[in-house]
Amino acid sequence: MEDPFGRRISYLRVSVTDRCDLRCVYCMAEDMTFLPKAEVLSLEELDRLCGAFIDLGVERLRLTGGEPLVRKNVISLFRSLGARLNGGGLKELTVTTNGTQLTKLAGELYDAGVRRVNVSLDTLDPAGFAAVTRWGKLGQTLDGIFAAKAAGLAVKINAVAMQGVNEHEFDRMIAWCGEHGFDLTLIETMPLGEISGDRTDQYLPLSTVRARLRETWTLEESSHRTGGPARYYRVAETGGRLGFITPLTHNFCESCNRVRVTCTGTLYMCLGQDDAADLRAPLRDPLVPEGERDANLRQAIRDAMLRKPKGHDFVIERRAARPAVGRHMSVTGG
Ligand code: SAM
Ligand code: SF4
Repeated sequence: MEDPFGRRISYLRVSVTDRCDLRCVYCMAEDMTFLPKAEVLSLEELDRLCGAFIDLGVERLRLTGGEPLVRKNVISLFRSLGARLNGGGLKELTVTTNGTQLTKLAGELYDAGVRRVNVSLDTLDPAGFAAVTRWGKLGQTLDGIFAAKAAGLAVKINAVAMQGVNEHEFDRMIAWCGEHGFDLTLIETMPLGEISGDRTDQYLPLSTVRARLRETWTLEESSHRTGGPARYYRVAETGGRLGFITPLTHNFCESCNRVRVTCTGTLYMCLGQDDAADLRAPLRDPLVPEGERDANLRQAIRDAMLRKPKGHDFVIERRAARPAVGRHMSVTGG
C-alpha cells in the first residue's frame, strides 16, 4: 500500500477500546463519556479488520487504546493476530499499555507472539505518578513492568515530557532504565482533545530537554528505528537507548509509514488531521453477503490511502484556544 506521496504504509495502530482505568492529565478529562458498546467493534470484527490490513501489506501492528489490556478477553485478539506472525504476513505484534494489567497478562502476551511492549510511565515519584494519572498507583505499574521483563518481553518506557511536572526526573529515569535494560522514549505533549487544564503550561520542547541532558549524559547518534517516529540516541554511560518523539519541534511526517484505526472502525490517515474513513460500514454492511464484505473492506482501505495527507500542522500556542484536533489521544491511540 502506497499513499500519493510514495510513502509505503506498513504500520497499523489499532485502538481496541476508548476506555481506560487511568485518567492521565494530558490525555483525558477526569469525567469522560465513553462510546456505547454497540458502536465498538467486536474482537472478531477487529481481527477481520486487522486481517484486511495485513492482506494489503501491513507488517507491523500495535494494539493500543484507551487501555488495550482492560478490554475483556483482549488476549483472544492477540492470539488470533499472533497466528499471522511467522509467515502469515505479520512481522511484529506489539502493544502500548499503562502497565496496570501486566502482572496478569504479560505471560499470555508473550505466548501470543508479542515480544515488545511500550509502557507509559511519566515519573518514578509515587506522588507525581498519582497526580499525573489521577487514579494510578506507581507500584502497580512498576510490578507490571517487571512482570513483562520476567516474561521475556522487551520493555520500552514512554514518558510525556511536561514542564514543571517531570522535567527534573529524566536523569533519574535514564539511569533507572539503563539499570533494568529498558529503552526510554520522551514524547512532546500533543494538542489532542479537550482536557481540563491548559496545554501551553505543560508543553516542554524536547530540543531544550536534549540540550540539558547532554550536560550529564553522552548521547551518541543511533540509527536504531522501531518503525515509529522516534529518533534514538545511545546513552554511553548506561548503554541504553533514549528516543525523542518531537511532533512539534521537528515534524516527522515525511517518513510516515502508518495509519490508525479506532475501536469503532474509523480509519485516520493522519494523527493530526480530521479526515477519516469509515471501515465499520463495509465490515457490517447488511446488504452485502458476509463472504463478500472483506473484499469491500479492502477496497475501502485502498481508497482511503489515496487521501493520506502530507502531514499535520500541530502548534501549541496561547492564540490557539482549541486543540488541533478535537478527538483525544485515547480515541486513536498513541
Ligand atoms: N493507555 C495506554 C498507555 O497509556 O500507554 C495506551 C494509550 S495512550 C493514549 C498512548 C500514549 O499516548 C501514551 O504513552 C501516552 O502517554 C501518550 N499520550 C496521550 N495523550 C497524549 C498527548 N496529548 N500528547 C502526547 N502523548 C500523549
Ligand atoms: Fe489511559 Fe493511556 Fe490515556 Fe493515560 S495515556 S489516560 S493510561 S489511555
